[in-house]
Amino acid sequence: MNALDFHQAFSTGALSATELLDQALERVSARDPKVTAFLQVDEEGARKAAQALDARRASGEPLGPLAGVPVAIKDNICTEGLLTTAGSKMLAHYRPPYDATVVSRLRKADALLIGKTNLDEFAMGSSCENSAFFPSRNPWDLHRVPGGSSGGSAAAVAAGMVPLALGSDTGGSIRQPAALCGLTGMKPSYGLVSRYGLIAFASSFDQIGPIASSARECAWLLESIAGHDPRDATSLPTGFERQAPPRSLRGFRLGYPKEFRDVLVEPAVQSRINKAVKALEALEAEVIPVRLPSIDASLATYLVLATAEASSNLARYDGVHYGLRAQGCADLESLTARSRAAGFGPEVRRRICLGTFALSSGYYDAYYRKAAAVRRRIQADFRKAFARVDVIVGPTSPIPAFPLGERSNDPLTMYAVDVFTLAANLAGLPALSMPCGRTRDGLPVGLQLMGPRLSDPRLLAIAECYQANSSHHLETAPMCQEG
Ligand code: GLN
Repeated sequence: MNALDFHQAFSTGALSATELLDQALERVSARDPKVTAFLQVDEEGARKAAQALDARRASGEPLGPLAGVPVAIKDNICTEGLLTTAGSKMLAHYRPPYDATVVSRLRKADALLIGKTNLDEFAMGSSCENSAFFPSRNPWDLHRVPGGSSGGSAAAVAAGMVPLALGSDTGGSIRQPAALCGLTGMKPSYGLVSRYGLIAFASSFDQIGPIASSARECAWLLESIAGHDPRDATSLPTGFERQAPPRSLRGFRLGYPKEFRDVLVEPAVQSRINKAVKALEALEAEVIPVRLPSIDASLATYLVLATAEASSNLARYDGVHYGLRAQGCADLESLTARSRAAGFGPEVRRRICLGTFALSSGYYDAYYRKAAAVRRRIQADFRKAFARVDVIVGPTSPIPAFPLGERSNDPLTMYAVDVFTLAANLAGLPALSMPCGRTRDGLPVGLQLMGPRLSDPRLLAIAECYQANSSHHLETAPMCQEG
């Protein structure tokens, strides 16, 4: 059942919220031991919410747009009173005293929040293997990673445990796991969704967004969570309203950047992407060559700027303000040093070191300032390209889901997986990934669409049009067919 089916079943009275919740929880107990997508299932909280919902329906009260729909939340998004770990030992016991804005909006929409999903520690990673607790697995092949950092959210949806999940995307963390798990995932325009209550990684890049089977469901979830929030200084005064999908793509111009052809993409992936572009052309879209000359610098630029912001954001975990505190320290300096050494895993420490170095006096001009200038160049490239086309298409990831352990000891090959996704974060653009077929080994391939700032409704409408004319998004992992 997709999210719309859940809502339909509840609103027509076919099933109660409690029954729908039980269905979801049964799947979680049957499948999550293999997939390990969840860090925590809040059975008690979800049951209370379902009972309250059933009571309200019985008394004829109006119900929210997501009434009866189970949703999973990435564990770097604050939930009042419920553990929110960011996948880190640092926050292993952290119970936030408040809900993130997206969480309170989901509650208001009457969604059933069933639990918190696994992620790479502080959202730093592309495989979910950097979680301090355990890795999650790809429902299409349990020996492979689900992608990251929102790997738990993607795995939970791909395993049919929940129809919808929230992820966060700083450099691809929604789109890449969506691609590797055969799902649709969207990073909204920067500022469209409130970051209040999102545990910060790199604040000028971070955005929260939906992961689901289809673009339609993503749009639906986005309608509930987007919109201005006075608690986030970067929140825009704009909301999100779903646009009905066009019947064909006549009149739309798509660009496939020449520079994307210079990146090494696995042939099995590239051939699916080429077919998808053909399918878009068959829907009467016009494909035009475009150029993004500075895009080859996006990985380096991202690594300087995102690590710099991370080093600043993570300074708050000092053994005093938040999180883990080392015991028996003689002075403040050793308290800070020992707390941070005990609380942060190797990837987080690596990023803090890199970022602190890039910001340090004497190097600021050489690294941070230069990277900030390149970021503006990349933004300008996109502005020029979007004067000619409505959408930029390409692969989401150069490779499909890889075996657990294959890249975890080699940071550079792990970072390389993000080549296609980072630019949208550098430029603050909306971008989504949607399934466009599978490799010969049966692994899903994701097609990325990027649009100009605030073109989110149109981007999703184009994806909806593609999905109305294809069935890749309807394919489910083999485990979904077992009972
Ligand atoms: N994989 C990228 C990184 O490791 C992006 C992570 C993200 O989007 N949170 O930084």
